[in-house]
Amino acid sequence: MNSTSSNILRYALIFLILVSIGVLTWQHFGMERKLRIDANSAHQFIAVDDRTQGGKSVAHLSKVNDAMVMKCKIAKSEYQWPYCQIRIQLTKMPSGMDLSHFDDIDFNLSRSGPGPEKVRVYLNNFEAYSKINDSSTLKVNELLLDTKGADMASSHIPLNLFRVASWWVEYKNIPLIDTDMQVDNVPIIEISTPGFAPEGEHEITFKYIEFHGKWLSLTQVLLGIVSAWLTFGVAWLGFEIFQYRQRLSQERSQRSELEVINRVLEIQAEVLSNQAQIDPLTGALNRAGLNNLLSKKWPGEIPKDAQLSILFADLDHFKRINDTHGHAVGDEVLQQFAQLVKSKIRKSDGFVRWGGEEFLVACPEMPHDLAVKLAENIRDSAEKSSWPHSIAVTCSCGVATRNHGEDFNALIERADIALYRAKKGGRNRVEIG
Ligand code: GH3
Ligand code: MG
Ligand code: MG
Repeated sequence: MNSTSSNILRYALIFLILVSIGVLTWQHFGMERKLRIDANSAHQFIAVDDRTQGGKSVAHLSKVNDAMVMKCKIAKSEYQWPYCQIRIQLTKMPSGMDLSHFDDIDFNLSRSGPGPEKVRVYLNNFEAYSKINDSSTLKVNELLLDTKGADMASSHIPLNLFRVASWWVEYKNIPLIDTDMQVDNVPIIEISTPGFAPEGEHEITFKYIEFHGKWLSLTQVLLGIVSAWLTFGVAWLGFEIFQYRQRLSQERSQRSELEVINRVLEIQAEVLSNQAQIDPLTGALNRAGLNNLLSKKWPGEIPKDAQLSILFADLDHFKRINDTHGHAVGDEVLQQFAQLVKSKIRKSDGFVRWGGEEFLVACPEMPHDLAVKLAENIRDSAEKSSWPHSIAVTCSCGVATRNHGEDFNALIERADIALYRAKKGGRNRVEIG
């Protein structure tokens, strides 16, 4: 990974850590969401009593300063559960307010009159089975609140303390599966006298209800943070894979470049090595070239039973050619002679410029009689060839074939002696060593 990209990842990592800490802290100490319903709210406040159910209780609602005050006369009647209540119409049905995002509630309520110092608070939720024209079909989420005691003193009453009223479940015959507390669509809030309200004058003063919550719950924040980290992790991994692939293809192309360079160098080395083993004038091998050829044929020692014939060919009176026609013509004669010998020998034979105008032919696996024939052929062809400036050119040859286990130098010496004899014997002839 290069330093720029690793720096980007490092900064992204630091950024994520800071954002995670920041969001968690913000969620804990801030992100406040508040819904306040008070006597000055634009909502409709209605006094409701049991007369609709055949009772005789009478409720009146009036606004006194910043409070809604309900005066209620509870009266005994046929109706078993006399009550009065303040109904706050939050919205028009079927739509309601989603209170499920809130965590707790602050109440500012008071009550006076006979009986327990309690009020019932209802958050009525519009459900799938609720009817627009019948508020009794709303799910009744109930909380019994002590208006004198600890409930009022401690603010922040958890919203999840509301329970679906069992009397309502029974009255409406609601199946168990639908009896969970739901406050995601609340069109009506009610504050009612307690269940066992004795006869007499009752009063409920309502100042406000405040719902408190967070814009994002801790679960939502944690989910967001985990998703961000996962995304970052996957992106990092993807980036690593991308970088790794790039590196791999770079290495591959570098390797193939190196392979090409290596091959070129090998070829160059081969060319140089060949050049080092070849005489530039005649194209024949030099002595190093001969050694190389023999060691390729017989790595290490030459086997004792290996057959090898050696043939020396030396131009006769070559000095005279040089002296008479010049060195350049002498070179031409040398080149032509080399071509002549090459045309007579096999591919497997080694043709070597042994010295100035003296050549050697090494013939592996060649029996003696064939070697003598070859020497005779070369000598004859040289004599009969036409040479530059019509010079008469001849050569003398010495031939030797390796005895069983004979040393290479001894073989050379025998061929050389044979050549010497050919010279002594009058030149333009073949002698056997
Ligand atoms: P012989 O028949 O006894 O072999 O006599 P020769 O004259 O051929 O032998 P000698 O050894 O006396 O002379 C060889 C000459 O070959 C001497 C040298 O100047 C010449 N020579 C050696 N190398 C080259 C070469 O590369 N080019 C030319 N033009 N002449 C060369
Ligand atoms: Mg000579
Ligand atoms: Mg010579």
